[in-house]
Amino acid sequence: MQTFQLFHSVFFLFGAIFGSFLNVVIWRVPRNESIVSPPSHCSSCNKQIAPYDNIPLISWLILGGKCRHCKKEISSRYIIVEFITGLLTVFMVVTYGISTEFFIKIFYVYMLIAITYIDFDHYIIPNEFILLGVTSLLFIHFFNGLPISKLDGFYGAITFGGFLYFIGKVAELILKKESMGFGDVKLGLVLGGLLGLKLSILGLFLSFLISGLFTIIGISLFKMKSKGEIPFGPFMAAATLVIFLTRTPGGGNSILNWYFTTMF
Ligand SMILES: [Zn+2]
Repeated sequence: MQTFQLFHSVFFLFGAIFGSFLNVVIWRVPRNESIVSPPSHCSSCNKQIAPYDNIPLISWLILGGKCRHCKKEISSRYIIVEFITGLLTVFMVVTYGISTEFFIKIFYVYMLIAITYIDFDHYIIPNEFILLGVTSLLFIHFFNGLPISKLDGFYGAITFGGFLYFIGKVAELILKKESMGFGDVKLGLVLGGLLGLKLSILGLFLSFLISGLFTIIGISLFKMKSKGEIPFGPFMAAATLVIFLTRTPGGGNSILNWYFTTMF
């Protein structure tokens, strides 16, 4: 039990540290700033943040969520992203163990966390992520790093991306304006290539389900106003995460298992 908990805290810490890096990515990539230089600085007074003020989770709490120099509030999002990234890292390692599949999928989980926040903020999925996602995917498939075949990955990509493209075109004809961004289609290609055909169909279904629930709950409980535009990337990210975490040993999926045993 002792080692069990230690094992988890190490991964939580690793995730939180990476989450701290994701905060930089989320802020800088859509602004076309470099993610390596300059070092982290306060977004209101521009003073560089000292390493001891940049410790994931802890610094934010010690400083009471304020900049040491100008006392301007630092968004609680920073600590939330670090916490979520830490937590998801633990969930992933519990699901996959320390395996090649864990390292491949956690890479995409981290990317999806960044995409989620950026898409909510700016309504874009920067091409840098698509490029990184596709290149990594080709590399991974080349070395047979996933439990699905190359062909299955190809079918998945065509299905996930293709369906979103089709929906986008139909919506465009009906609404007379663009509703499904091309960024979503490109992300669909990447996720489909990662999931394979069967899980891509589940991924599409879950993306629309989660986005529908989010919209209904948002409008009825939080009086969310529809700005006529809701980013879709975050829901594709959420769906992929659900699929990742419901994997059964041997590469199956417990949602699909449940569906097929209940319906047939
Ligand atoms: Zn400041």
